[in-house]
Amino acid sequence: MQRVLPNQFVQRKFTPLLALLVVVGLGYSQIASAEWLRRNEAIMGTSIYVEIWHTDRDAGAAAIDAVIEELHRIDRLMSTFKPDSEISLVNDEASKHPVPISEELQSLILEALELSEVTGGAFDITYASVGHHYNFRERQRPDDDTIEQSLQAVDYRNVVIDKDAGTISFSRDGVRIDLGGIAKGYAVERGIILLRERGVQHALISAGGDSQMLGDRMGRPWLVGIRDPRGGRTDVITHLPVANEAVSTSGDYERFFDEDGVRYHHIIVPTTGRPASEVQSVTIIGPNATITDGLSTSVFVLGVAPGLELINGMEAFETVIIDGSGKMHFSSGMLAAEVPGGD
Ligand code: AMP
Ligand code: MG
Repeated sequence: MQRVLPNQFVQRKFTPLLALLVVVGLGYSQIASAEWLRRNEAIMGTSIYVEIWHTDRDAGAAAIDAVIEELHRIDRLMSTFKPDSEISLVNDEASKHPVPISEELQSLILEALELSEVTGGAFDITYASVGHHYNFRERQRPDDDTIEQSLQAVDYRNVVIDKDAGTISFSRDGVRIDLGGIAKGYAVERGIILLRERGVQHALISAGGDSQMLGDRMGRPWLVGIRDPRGGRTDVITHLPVANEAVSTSGDYERFFDEDGVRYHHIIVPTTGRPASEVQSVTIIGPNATITDGLSTSVFVLGVAPGLELINGMEAFETVIIDGSGKMHFSSGMLAAEVPGGD
């Protein structure tokens, strides 16, 4: 399942026509019919929303059940909060000896490592070697000594996968990995694949900041809102019209605490062990949620100029970055379209 970034992706087209359709699309909620099935659940520490168009209610409900079960399954596999998850077992043992891992975990880790190469190390699942010292709910952060000490273990090249043996090992002590920057997108993508296999043609799955859409919304685009990073939970700065694509947003408002005017949040710069401070949110649009999820975290770490450069070099992807002063920046394909609320 490993992918080559970014060439294999089809080119996405963001036309002014789509932007125009937004105006028409704002009235969607009024056309809800019995054949749209919707479900909300709390999974993976976030709220999950599934919406599908189905002509057979029972088959539709069964398809949503299958998606929910798949998200639970991935959470059980990949949550570092669950001591008996596969990833937790890896973190306990892989510094001591090679640990056998499932093919699924192996391919997602390989995908994460590939993303590290593409982003010059901005995306790095070993950030967790220092990241696990933060506890945002408890307002806890590591002191300078702890950061310096644990930073020595942060480097994605410390993760060694032996494909033939099907094992993973860490090349030094103190290394930990966490797939929090990519796992929700992966779960959403897996859910969409399940729906497609069941013949569903119009669907949306979202998990926190990660969404993927199957088809359009019955002849119209889906509208994905970009939240105002300094507004309330429901304040949206602009809507993106999208069909058959994935959209991920990373924001410094998701898990954080403020102390002495500094925002301590969950996206960590691998070279410093401290939260990335240049931007407030990053949205990525592209063909699948696993990669848009990883890229939104990556561009958040990179900041505006290197982030735009990265995404402008990836044909199938676009981005909207909201910088520290609240100004929006668009990748080149977005500038070709008139985005409502943009300048
Ligand atoms: P997202 O909301 O998709 O940006 O994911 C944020 C999550 O990614 C955090 O809660 C961490 O689990 C993880 N993370 C933080 N910093 C990094 C990083 N530099 N590289 C990879 N994952 C990270
Ligand atoms: Mg992400």
